[in-house]
Parts: sequence; structure tokens; C-alpha cells
Amino acid sequence: MNNFVTKKKIGIIGGGQLGKMMILEAKKMGYYVTILDPTPNCPAHSICDKHIVANFDDKDALYSLAQNSDCITYEFEHIDYKTLMELSEKGNKIYPDPSCLKIIQNKYYQKNMLKENNIPTPDFYKVDSIEDIKIRAKEFGLPIVLKACTGGYDGKGNFVIRTEDDIDKAFDILSQNKNIPLMVERFVDFSMEISVIACGSLDGEANVYPVAQNLHIDNILHKTIVPANISENTKTKALELTKKIVEIFNGVGIFCVEFFVTKDGDVLVNEIAPRPHNSGHYTIEGCVTSQFENHIRAILGLPLGSTNLISPTIMLNILGEEGYSGDALFLGLDEALKEENVFVHIYGKEKTSPKRKMGHLTCSIEPLEKADIISKRAFEKIKVISK
Ligand code: ADP
Repeated sequence: MNNFVTKKKIGIIGGGQLGKMMILEAKKMGYYVTILDPTPNCPAHSICDKHIVANFDDKDALYSLAQNSDCITYEFEHIDYKTLMELSEKGNKIYPDPSCLKIIQNKYYQKNMLKENNIPTPDFYKVDSIEDIKIRAKEFGLPIVLKACTGGYDGKGNFVIRTEDDIDKAFDILSQNKNIPLMVERFVDFSMEISVIACGSLDGEANVYPVAQNLHIDNILHKTIVPANISENTKTKALELTKKIVEIFNGVGIFCVEFFVTKDGDVLVNEIAPRPHNSGHYTIEGCVTSQFENHIRAILGLPLGSTNLISPTIMLNILGEEGYSGDALFLGLDEALKEENVFVHIYGKEKTSPKRKMGHLTCSIEPLEKADIISKRAFEKIKVISK
């Protein structure tokens, strides 16, 4: 039997809301947490034990984080993987393994890896010139999706090319003078977007959570509905593929796999995130063990908790209101909290701006239709403006 060492030190790269929610779970079990984040008052700052204020690509800071930690993890994938691989080779424990970052942080490498492993994705090609885009526009037919291979999030880095005239503009905007590698994808006329959160353990097992259905507005996640309204067959495919993906990456910790569901019920992988994900926030109140708790358990080699759904759950993202920028002010929280089984999470970002992710709420209750009505009512009461 192992002794349970609560003074173990965890290092987290990134002190945003995901880092903060990881710390809440780590603290529940008594661990010591250091974060590395350039923003002095970032969301995780108020609850971490130590904060290294430095840029994510600051090599000395990453080394110092490693010195302060028994185990390192991260809340986003756009990190200097080379330094992390160096640290890993020197014997530092880093989960998920930084070798997966090299592949996942480049959408083209990521899709290639999936293709090599017979995992279905939208058809895609690398783009080196405007001519390449024209060739694919002819092959696939318009629209097509041009994507920056690196650095994109919330659809920033994507351009849906709808007419021939868009091609030059899309290339110029996304490639930024050819500094950023590009790829092009067949446009998928999907019936739904879903995601599966999975947790890989140190002994190679992958536990999957229920399939979540995601609605985006302006490419930003607006709503997650669990369970997703899909057939048993689609569900089985999504769960099996997610397990396989975690195995391919020897994943330890939480992975999120986002899929398109086609009109005939097939699933195509859109994107993988090697970390807790916004579409998995429903697990905090909705499941026996949250994605954050299982992530902490996994990276420390502890047994994973059940991923079962307790009740149908809706998650709604709370974004900064249009027209307001500056010190954040939340309106209507007291009214929202009067609603049955509603939980509100405020990330603690000092400044709001239009569409910035400031918090989220969940409603977990039987039946799903009831959770939908209540969560919408609570959501409509909250507004994030500036002081
Ligand atoms: P990000 O990495 O910025 O989140 P994604 O590549 O996941 O960007 O794309 C954001 C959204 O754009 C997706 O959720 C989906 O709605 C849409 N999208 C992306 N790729 C395609 C595609 N090949 N066909 C149709 N829609 C797409």
C-alpha cells in the first residue's frame, strides 16, 4: 500500500479558469500547487500556493516550476514543448507527456496522426500557396475551411472560404506574411457537434465520460447538453474512438475529443485537447467525479473516480457583454442562484471584454428538458458589464 502524501507538489502551466478549477480539486486533497502565468492577478492566483509570474516560453521559469514540483501539468496546449521534453528527459514527471504537445499543437500534424491511425476526420491538405487552396477548392467544392495550423482558439485562426474571391483574403489574413503554416479542410455539413472527455491513467486505462452535445455561437462554446441527443450507434463510435485516441497518445490525464456528427450519424474528429476542456465543465456538478478531480488523480497515479452522469446537465458559458470593456461587474447573480439546482462559476478575471469567457453555470436535474428551461432562465438573469 502506498502512503498518501498530501504534501506532494503540483505545478500547473497556466493560471486561467482551467488551472483554477484544477487547483480547487488538488486543494481538496491537500496538495501544494505552484502556477506559472504571466498575469499577476490571473484566475488561479488567489488560490495557488505559489505563483511564478513569467511568460509561458520563459525557459528559466519552466525550470523553476519543475524544481518546485513533483509533477507538472498544463491547462492549454500552446506551450514550448521542447523545454518540456528536455525537462521530461531529465526525469521530471510531466503529464500528459509533452511529446503529444508537439503533435496536438499543430492541427496538421494532429490530423495526420489521426489519419495514420485510421481515425476518421474531415478530408484535409497542407497549404503552401494560394494555388494549393484553389486546387482544393476545385476538388472539394466551396465552401472550404482554411485553418492556421498553430495558435488558433475559439475559431480565431479559421476562415470559411465561400467564394473564389475569398481565397486571397483568407490566405493573407491567416498566414500573416507566410509565417504561419496553413491547412485546408473539406467543409462538413454536420448535423451536430459533440465532444467526449476521457481520462487516461498511468496504467494505460481510459475512462470516458458521457457524450456531450455542444452549441457554438460565433465559434465560441455557448451551451453543452448532456446526454447528447444521438443514436446508440453514434454514441458507441464516439466513445470507442475517444478511447483509441487516448491510447494513441499514451494519454495520462484528461483529453477532450471534439467530433462532427454527419447527417448519416457518422463521426469525424475535429480536434483534440490534451487537457480539461470547456465542454467538460458539466462534469463538476453532473458527474460523480469531475474532469478536474480525475485529472489530478491521473497525474498523481491515484485510482480514477467514476465518470457516471448523476443527472442530465446543461452548461452555459457566461461571456462578457457586447459594448463593455474594463473592470468586470456581474449583474443578476442573486436572481440566477434562486433557480433550482443551478450553480454559477465565476472565473475571477478582473477585466471583461465582449465575448470574453467570464464564467459558466450548470443545471443538473431530471429530466433534461427541465434542466434546459431552468438553466436558460438563470442564464438570462446574468450580465457581465464593466464598472
Ligand atoms: P478552434 O481550434 O479555434 O476551436 P476549430 O478548428 O475547432 O477551431 O473550429 C471551430 C469551429 O469551426 C468548429 O467548432 C466548427 O463549428 C467549425 N469548423 C471547423 N472545421 C470545420 C469543418 N471542416 N467543416 C465545418 N465546420 C468546421
